[in-house]
Amino acid sequence: MHEMSLAEGIRGIVEEATRAHSGRRVDAVVLEIGALAAVEVEALSFCLEVVLRGTVAEGARIEIEAIPGAGWCMQCAATVPLAALCDACPQCGSYQVQATAGTEMRVKALELE
Ligand SMILES: [Zn+2]
Repeated sequence: MHEMSLAEGIRGIVEEATRAHSGRRVDAVVLEIGALAAVEVEALSFCLEVVLRGTVAEGARIEIEAIPGAGWCMQCAATVPLAALCDACPQCGSYQVQATAGTEMRVKALELE
């Protein structure tokens, strides 16, 4: 399951980031997830709840900020909004659109107790 390996990656980042603050617990994990990242947000939240058990972030609030997708349309020579990876350009209908934003997923911030 894709989301489970993502969740384990996030746990690694959280543990690494909190090592310098030993003894402090994590209140919230803030994630940025692009609209084109193909991440099932509900599944990811569930997996995080499971993998964070027994860590400093057990029971932490998971906050997810969505990043809108965008792409570069070769026909329009412009950046256009993109709802899905294989979508056509909303301006000219061309499929020659290269995704430029919204494919990323990262840990944006941790709130410590
Ligand atoms: Zn276009």
